[in-house]
Amino acid sequence: MGSSEIAVAVVRRWLALALEVITAHEEELGRLDAAAGDGDHGATMVRGLRAANAAVEKMSDGAGRLLIEAGAAFSDASGGASGALIGALLSSAGRVLDDGPFDTATATKALQAGLSMVMRLGKAQPGDKTLVDALKPFVDALAAQPADQPLLAAWRAALPAAQAGAAATREMVAKRGRSAKLGERSLGHADPGATSLVYLLQAMETALAEECG
Ligand code: ADP
Ligand code: MG
Repeated sequence: MGSSEIAVAVVRRWLALALEVITAHEEELGRLDAAAGDGDHGATMVRGLRAANAAVEKMSDGAGRLLIEAGAAFSDASGGASGALIGALLSSAGRVLDDGPFDTATATKALQAGLSMVMRLGKAQPGDKTLVDALKPFVDALAAQPADQPLLAAWRAALPAAQAGAAATREMVAKRGRSAKLGERSLGHADPGATSLVYLLQAMETALAEECG
């Protein structure tokens, strides 16, 4: 398989695994969101990922195009703050993905573009108790990997930064999104969006291990 075919296989497998893992944690994500939000985060993510999987099913394009369409379908189907942001993350990453070989440097650039878009749209800074608190440490850790490191190894090495970032949101008071209104009530609970983002990144580790490990 060429690099672009591997990328397509990884994106497809990732979308399928992401739906599986988020469905398995749907209740947990709903409970986290109920602490200071409206309790719909698990359901929102499942709806978005189902639509994203359906959108790419009959496509025969490159990995970047798949991600762009998956992101658009995710946004349309899921609604809510997280839907628009994660949809934009996928689509922005997709716009970069086909520009280079499917390696650590390209994945880093794609995720940096996604992170910038999320921060521009949502205006969340690190420490605001959002998915940015998991995504930014991950992207920074990925960027710190040697560029010639195979993508699976680099991804694995960066994952603990995302997990630590999500765990640290427990001690934060929400400053963005719906739960900012009930700020203090979110203390002691991890941010649902940061938590689901870690599941998405873990699903990608599995997809990479299966398709290029
Ligand atoms: P809603 O808040 O519309 O009910 P969800 O419950 O699906 O949407 O998602 C909530 C998650 O969205 C939060 O846990 C947080 O991680 C993320 N989020 C909300 N607003 C922002 C924002 N402005 N920037 C980044 N992430 C945000
Ligand atoms: Mg919610």
